[in-house]
Amino acid sequence: MIQKLKIENRVIGFRKFDINEIRKDFPILSREVNGKPLVYFDNAATTQKPNVVIDSIGHYYRYENANIHRGLHFLSEVATEQYENSRLKVKEFINSMSASEIIFTKGTTDGINLLANTMWRANMLNEGDEIIISHMEHHANIVPWQLLGDRKKIVLKVIPINDDGEIIMDEYKKLISSKTKLVSIVHTSNTLGTINPIKEIIDIAHDNKIPVLIDAAQAVSHQKVDVQELDCDFLVFSGHKLFGPTGIGVLYGKAELLNKLPPYQGGGDMIRTVTFEETTFEDIPNKFEAGTPNIVGSIGLGVAIKYLNMFNFNDIAEYENELLQYATNKILEINGIRIIGTAKNKASVISFTVDGIHPYDIGTIIDTDGIAIRTGHHCTQPIMKRYNVPATARASFAFYNTKEEVDVFIKALHKVIKMFS
Ligand code: PMP
Repeated sequence: MIQKLKIENRVIGFRKFDINEIRKDFPILSREVNGKPLVYFDNAATTQKPNVVIDSIGHYYRYENANIHRGLHFLSEVATEQYENSRLKVKEFINSMSASEIIFTKGTTDGINLLANTMWRANMLNEGDEIIISHMEHHANIVPWQLLGDRKKIVLKVIPINDDGEIIMDEYKKLISSKTKLVSIVHTSNTLGTINPIKEIIDIAHDNKIPVLIDAAQAVSHQKVDVQELDCDFLVFSGHKLFGPTGIGVLYGKAELLNKLPPYQGGGDMIRTVTFEETTFEDIPNKFEAGTPNIVGSIGLGVAIKYLNMFNFNDIAEYENELLQYATNKILEINGIRIIGTAKNKASVISFTVDGIHPYDIGTIIDTDGIAIRTGHHCTQPIMKRYNVPATARASFAFYNTKEEVDVFIKALHKVIKMFS
């Protein structure tokens, strides 16, 4: 009965998915660029911020600014409460068991570097150990492990992907050995858009007693990510890709694992006692949050989560999928276009090349029409090599984008092609 009531309450509480109303929440969407209405299709790089997030930042600095945890005065208590409330919001958002499993970081990259720098010190990674990653990883899930390899000679084993940009699961299984000490996998590819079979990947690793780290940088804004349901051991994401501020992110880790890791950085707020001879450390999460953290960033992230919680995530996913299908069909009508990343299960990201036109030219020319897409390797150079392209153009959609914007984009693409023909 309680369960049912709860569900009913939630359903009643969801905000109607009205795209015109949603767009009004994001002030930047009504600005012009180069004399044309902005069409912002660079959401995989960073998302735009709703008014509530922007206002929370100003409000904090105007009325609540103080350092946290260390003061007994009114403002310090307010700031501390806000900061810790945001941790609770993150906890609920990804459904972790406890708020102490939520570590605030600078972002996805910072979270992975934290793990790379602490796991080996806890002997969770040793000389000769292997880490399994995939061919579609962002550099943030490649380079930190390579840097670690300078000291520890860690071997990266890479799961190949098929031509559609999907992980080849049989190859994954073959890579697992007694030397595998971590599987570190991107949930949703920022370049290909592929949504990986994360649960299956985790279950296979766990069958072999291997912990799993999930790079959820692109996943959290497109679908519900539940760490208990996935049973992942670690998960990282960035606030700025979730309609929150830059410079704030999250590392989730199971408490038993985080407890085994030594501190990443030393300094204030992470200690219990300090003498010149010896220091003792705070429990998690404080142990990993040395120094004054990004207080306003975490508050902004909490507000972004609160904003998103107004919506039914299924509505967001459905709408984005519709946009993806619409744009994909329109793009495929254009001669000479090749879409890189055609997985069956895809987020709203389209990477493409056009015969005879460099992606940089596409990006630069359509920018004159106020259209923001990204061109380059998207911090995934191994993917570029896999598909034998120097770069791609990439349009990535958020739930505030529209089919009308897709039409403007397609028209601009036609214009570019005409210029080069
Ligand atoms: N992983 C993925 C899949 C990403 O898309 C990104 C950002 N493009 C990152 C990691 C790195 O995120 P950040 O730069 O916010 O640390």
